[in-house]
Amino acid sequence: MINDLFLEIYSSIPRQGPGSKEITQLAFSKIANLPAAPSILDMGCGTGLQSIELVHLSGGTVIAVDNLKPFVDKLTNLANEQGITENLIAVCSDMQTLNYAPQSFDLIWSEGAIYNIGFENGLTIWKNHLRPNGYMAVSELCWIKENPPQEIVDYWSENYPAMKTIEQNCAIINECEYKLIDKFVFPASAWWDDYYTPISQIINKLKEENGESTDAEEVFNEMIPEMEMHKKYGDYYSYVFFIMRNR
Ligand code: SAH
Repeated sequence: MINDLFLEIYSSIPRQGPGSKEITQLAFSKIANLPAAPSILDMGCGTGLQSIELVHLSGGTVIAVDNLKPFVDKLTNLANEQGITENLIAVCSDMQTLNYAPQSFDLIWSEGAIYNIGFENGLTIWKNHLRPNGYMAVSELCWIKENPPQEIVDYWSENYPAMKTIEQNCAIINECEYKLIDKFVFPASAWWDDYYTPISQIINKLKEENGESTDAEEVFNEMIPEMEMHKKYGDYYSYVFFIMRNR
């Protein structure tokens, strides 16, 4: 469901999915042995807070890819404002059909986006862009605790039927011929501070201003139940960062 209001809301919040600056920093800190000034691909970058952070952390070049132009435009403007356009190139493209030279990137990064094309599929096709021994760091929604209550099982089987446990995703990483270096679970604050809380504030404001606007209702209908589920059952699932190496 993507309409103008959806884009307006999502362009105006810090992130388009769970995450934080500290999480980007922690995941990056797990990666040793990157060359100086590495070339990095950030898949499904959204408005790209993590892409900017990656430029600062790595001192390299980040190509940030998203198929929604308003997000790419916003990131291009941010890069201009920060004077880092030589190190950060935002590209409007489909992350499944990119046309870069094979084995040309030292690191492929993707926060809260690989699910759009499937975890296994993403790991498989993105491998073509990675240098031998190159790194891949992706976050993915996972079950993190056994025996989740039926209500949350039903919710995610409708909204993300491909959702797996951490162990199942580790097995996929191995089958796709990567070596897992490390993994960690996002804390609840990573869902709320830069994502759900700003969305709730916008929803409340829009409700006050527009009452029963149909466009806005679509956003409410999707996000309000998702946030309620997280409040009730956030112990059972979260995003998990997987940091791995091509082998
Ligand atoms: N990495 C950002 C955005 C995550 S939201 C963050 O953590 O804040 C997922 C993003 O993936 C959205 O911006 C969406 O537009 C993008 N996306 C979804 N399918 C895509 C595709 N096939 N190609 C490129 N980008 C895609």
